[in-house]
Amino acid sequence: MRLEGKVAIVTGAASGMGAATARRFAREGAKVVIADMLEEDGRAVAQQIVTGNGAAEFMKLDVTDEANWKAVVDATVARFGKLDILVNNAGISGSAVEDVLDTMMWDKLMEVNGRGTFLGVKFAVPAMKAAGGGSIVNLSSISGVVGQKRIHVGYNASKGAVRTLTKSAAVQFGGDGIRVNSIHPGLLPPMRTSGATADPAFRAQMLKAVPLGRSGEADEVANAILFLASDEASYITGAELYVDGGYLAV
Ligand code: NAD
Repeated sequence: MRLEGKVAIVTGAASGMGAATARRFAREGAKVVIADMLEEDGRAVAQQIVTGNGAAEFMKLDVTDEANWKAVVDATVARFGKLDILVNNAGISGSAVEDVLDTMMWDKLMEVNGRGTFLGVKFAVPAMKAAGGGSIVNLSSISGVVGQKRIHVGYNASKGAVRTLTKSAAVQFGGDGIRVNSIHPGLLPPMRTSGATADPAFRAQMLKAVPLGRSGEADEVANAILFLASDEASYITGAELYVDGGYLAV
């Protein structure tokens, strides 16, 4: 098993790629904290893992809340003894509103996608230092690298922030044995908060720009996250891994 003995927090693990990652981590031997605002769905993911003989616990987390982050990291260490892996996956979509210059949406995107990831790094680092090292995987996007029509400018900006925050943290904490990398999914199943990106016409148009000619699956992103989180990626830090069917290669 590829994560035997590891303790991981996965944010936004109540649904989508976070849930797929949490399940995959548990199958590879990790003890997994399912951290999300959605209590019912989050508890259900944790229960499925436990029923399948894995180790998981739901902890309620709003990633924008500093005190909540501290409490969840402390509770993880108290429950499982340490913290080895953090997946900063929680996020909101850039197509929730039509107006790509809406100011309230800019603030919300920066708060959840940007500040949420920053706070995760802030509170994971001391716990990982105490554990002798660790691995942080941040969910950016193809939108963190290039611009797109009909997606709020703040989504691209927030995912761009995640991309360079990742490199900054990799440089600053490499000496502590902490690796920090970013994952950049392309066209995946729509997010809970998706508007335009859930529209079949928009998706068909986007698909034309995907060399592999299909959208990706949550498990395909989970596989990439697993690799970066595991010791197999022991000499990889500050890297960005595209899981986009070749979208950014065109
Ligand atoms: P999703 O909407 O299915 O899941 C996101 C999860 O984050 C939800 O469970 C939600 O409750 C949680 N969340 C939102 N705000 C939160 C907060 N303040 N505190 C705690 N949890 C919160 O979306 P997904 O498709 O699984 O996306 C996962 C990540 O991948 C996101 O960061 C997203 O931006 C990124 N991404 C998605 C796509 C895509 O096409 N789906 C593409 C590229 C990148």
